[in-house]
Amino acid sequence: MTLFAAKRKKTRQITVGNVKIGGMAPVAVQSMTNTFTQDVPATVSQIKRLEEAGCEIVRVAVPDEEAATAITSIKKSISIPLIADIHFDYRLAIASAKAGADGLRLNPGNIGTMEKVRAVAECAKSFDIPIRIGVNSGSLEKDLLKKYNGATPEAMVESAIRNIELLTSLDFHQIKISIKASDVRRTIAAYRLLSSKTDFPLHLGVTEAGTLFSGIVKSSLGIGMLLAEGIGDTFRVSLTRDPVEEIRTAYEILKALDIRRRGPEIISCPTCGRCKINLFEIVEQVEQALLSSLSPVRLAIMGCVVNGPGEAKEADIGIAGGDGVGILFKKGEVVKKFPQDKLVQVLLEEVEKYDAELR
Ligand code: SF4
Repeated sequence: MTLFAAKRKKTRQITVGNVKIGGMAPVAVQSMTNTFTQDVPATVSQIKRLEEAGCEIVRVAVPDEEAATAITSIKKSISIPLIADIHFDYRLAIASAKAGADGLRLNPGNIGTMEKVRAVAECAKSFDIPIRIGVNSGSLEKDLLKKYNGATPEAMVESAIRNIELLTSLDFHQIKISIKASDVRRTIAAYRLLSSKTDFPLHLGVTEAGTLFSGIVKSSLGIGMLLAEGIGDTFRVSLTRDPVEEIRTAYEILKALDIRRRGPEIISCPTCGRCKINLFEIVEQVEQALLSSLSPVRLAIMGCVVNGPGEAKEADIGIAGGDGVGILFKKGEVVKKFPQDKLVQVLLEEVEKYDAELR
């Protein structure tokens, strides 16, 4: 844990609703709804599921006036801060702030003139809410594209700095910045450069990350490499899926880097020719059963009774099976034998006992 925490870049701290971002606050996990924002029951229901999965800040799209107005009703039924995502029309940012949004996300490249960004900043200041400057490689200002001959990391960073300077010149400092490209290498290069030039908190993400499988790989690499270097104060994993999967992936990234933990850590063997049980199904059952668990336990689910316990010595609790026999082991030592069909049940009972001892 200290390996990464010691290296983390200290940024200024801002507040989104009741969540602190930057300045050594825990790296915050975000997601974005994919319901029609104006469909209040559907949007609230999705946000509740995101909250349960550990989402700490949620963003909703505000494509029109109706969506902006819906923020007031949505806010009444949710517990986490809500950020309004604005493209093109700066008036929707102002309407969202008035409707109670806890923060605004603007893409300065498509908002238009500096005067419009200025109007939004003045409004956000009056409501004391932060603005995320969301620079996107696909919609950079034309003069920067020309100057840098394309959406290079340098062009993206200049766009970010230009907008930071505009906001700070208005004495507006509740700022965080994202600087996303759809390819991982450019995203990493842009964030590294930006991090060397500003101490405002950074929101990480790889835009249009893609389907579940490729999205998880791209986000884990892009976001993970930056977090491992100490860059990044909050992030969203983008997946073309139920956004709850984004939260699960986010915590797996944080867990893998020992930055934050939420819920059990499950390790399982890849299986080999010695495995005589349906390990894939057992792992799936355990994962589903513990989906909303906050237990800090480290679990091992191994495919054979001979090598399994030894291979998973670091797990608090483990199970393995084969030839009709199930075994329970703790820290690599076998503590109990039982019929193989009770593997999942025994493991879940042991997790309960483990949690009870911690209370
Ligand atoms: S624990 Fe057993 S089944 Fe799993 S990979 Fe190791 S030897 Fe193979």
